[in-house]
Amino acid sequence: MGKLRTIGRTQPGQLPRYFVPSTTPYQLALAVRFRVPEDLGRLKAAILYGREQLAVEDIPEQPLAPGEVRVRIEAALTCGTDLKVYRRGYHARMLIPPCVFGHELAGVVSEVHPKTSGWEIGARVVAANSAPCGECTWCRGNQEYLCSDLLFLNGAYAESIVIPKRLVEKNLHRLRPETPFHAAALTEPLACVVQGISDLKLVSGESVLVLGSGPIGLMAVALAKHAGCSVALAGRGEGRLALGQRLGASILVDMAGREDLEAAVREQVPDTRFDVVFEAVGKPSAWEASVRLVRRGGRVNFFGGCPSGTTVNLDTTLVHYSALTLFASFHHTPTMIRRALGLIEDGIIRADDFVDGEAPLSKLPELFRQLAGGNRAVKTRIRLRE
Ligand SMILES: [Zn+2]
Ligand SMILES: [Zn+2]
Repeated sequence: MGKLRTIGRTQPGQLPRYFVPSTTPYQLALAVRFRVPEDLGRLKAAILYGREQLAVEDIPEQPLAPGEVRVRIEAALTCGTDLKVYRRGYHARMLIPPCVFGHELAGVVSEVHPKTSGWEIGARVVAANSAPCGECTWCRGNQEYLCSDLLFLNGAYAESIVIPKRLVEKNLHRLRPETPFHAAALTEPLACVVQGISDLKLVSGESVLVLGSGPIGLMAVALAKHAGCSVALAGRGEGRLALGQRLGASILVDMAGREDLEAAVREQVPDTRFDVVFEAVGKPSAWEASVRLVRRGGRVNFFGGCPSGTTVNLDTTLVHYSALTLFASFHHTPTMIRRALGLIEDGIIRADDFVDGEAPLSKLPELFRQLAGGNRAVKTRIRLRE
């Protein structure tokens, strides 16, 4: 068998060594990748088949390889990236269907391969959704998010998951006994925001404008406030804006029924000389507005990933003669994962602010149909066992 790379990705051209009786294309794909002895158990897992095609199925458990552990998942969270992938049907770097789905999870170690050290059954853990190689130019330069061989993990919407060796070594963390699983499951998205905020090097007393009131924008509000900044938030959804206020935004710009971000902010905010703009919308128009809304000498983080193939128009005179600093933070490093878990365990980021819904695994396909149709829940906790 080939070396495990992206979990859930079938490797074309690889000959099956062992077949399990298959009833679904996913099980066939699984049989091509793994030897699945008959004495292994089965689990319920969400399988993404393609664009807006999601099903919950009973699949065979994968056997563990040396260095791996199995985690019984106690909490999985929905995420904007999963929604994007669901709508698009794939993610070039993260997953190719048919595949298991979901990447924000926490749980309990339920099996340890005899050749895996440092872990025991019963350990309460959170796993990141990726692990860098640690050896390439980018890893050596502390830019592990650009690792040329980043290993992604998917399969959070399932009763259990196998954590590959590299992830066990680099991005699997033990939880404090009192840390709730759904709080720990916020570690990964929060780590991305911690990365984005730390790249900006916020200074206490600065004014920060956050564009976008999704989970990422709301986490940015909380972290900027925690850094001692005054925060303005422009976004949509009454509930989300109210939450933004609770998290520390002192100015709210309601974008309901409006498209022009720059005009809306200028109309509703008396002083728009923001030191920093954190863009968490993921639209070229929002990237362009960010540059126009930051002060001379200010910093912008183009945090929201736009659809691939899109471009932006920036006023070169403005960017140059205002000496702007532009960041485009992406993903996280193992350091940011640890820092994010610390923020959660120290109570600085509270799960109950971000996790505002709950649904059983069996209802996941329906939930994603609703999310695609405009359900504005911040994050929904998926219950893996009825
Ligand atoms: Zn996520
Ligand atoms: Zn690397």
